[in-house]
Amino acid sequence: ELTKQQIVSWLERCAVMFAEQRDFLTQLDSDIGDGDHGLNMNRGFNKVMEKLPSVADKDIGFILKTTGMTLLASIGGASGPLFGTFFIRAAQSTDAKQSLNIDEVHQMLSDGIKGIEMRGKAEPGDKTMCDVWLAVEDELSQARQQQLSLPQALENCVERANRALNDTILMQAKKGRASYLGERSIGHQDPGATSAKIMMEALYQQVG
Ligand code: ADP
Ligand code: MG
Ligand code: MG
Repeated sequence: ELTKQQIVSWLERCAVMFAEQRDFLTQLDSDIGDGDHGLNMNRGFNKVMEKLPSVADKDIGFILKTTGMTLLASIGGASGPLFGTFFIRAAQSTDAKQSLNIDEVHQMLSDGIKGIEMRGKAEPGDKTMCDVWLAVEDELSQARQQQLSLPQALENCVERANRALNDTILMQAKKGRASYLGERSIGHQDPGATSAKIMMEALYQQVG
């Protein structure tokens, strides 16, 4: 069971973590991109924090949809539409809900992840955030089959996200700005995949 308050706390925790990790993410993006990823995520979640008080009395779907639209409008670049889509899609099944049971949490996350896949069209191994999201999706469906508790399922997702993130280091980028570097993109951790892992960590912290 994940309450609306825990969803709000998740978003607040994301804002804190993206502020803390801003310079690290920007450094990662300087290595293989244009060096703005930390600034983008920090700006986006600061805007979400500004919006949250005005929607905190609404249902989970409304809160997630507002988050998605705010990120879409404020992050920009390649990652803005992707993280924006994640929350807008995640909102679809959570409309009018004040809390989510474990199946509804699974549904919310896998809808969001499928939205990112459809929008970004990255394949596994392309060295993008999808490498982390697809691993999380796979871990989620395993957790569902094994009927794990929500804390256990999310703990497994975080562990798997960490491994998937680490695997991006040796990949050559095939999508986004990093792909312009060709083989020189090898040896660096993907910034967007790092942000995806941060979001999962922030969620796990609400139940663990
Ligand atoms: P930009 O590259 O426009 O400056 P950001 O720096 O905010 O945008 O985000 C870069 C991240 O976006 C990359 O590290 C990668 O994870 C992600 N990304 C780029 N293109 C795609 C795509 N087509 N599908 C999934 N993720 C992508
Ligand atoms: Mg960038
Ligand atoms: Mg940019």
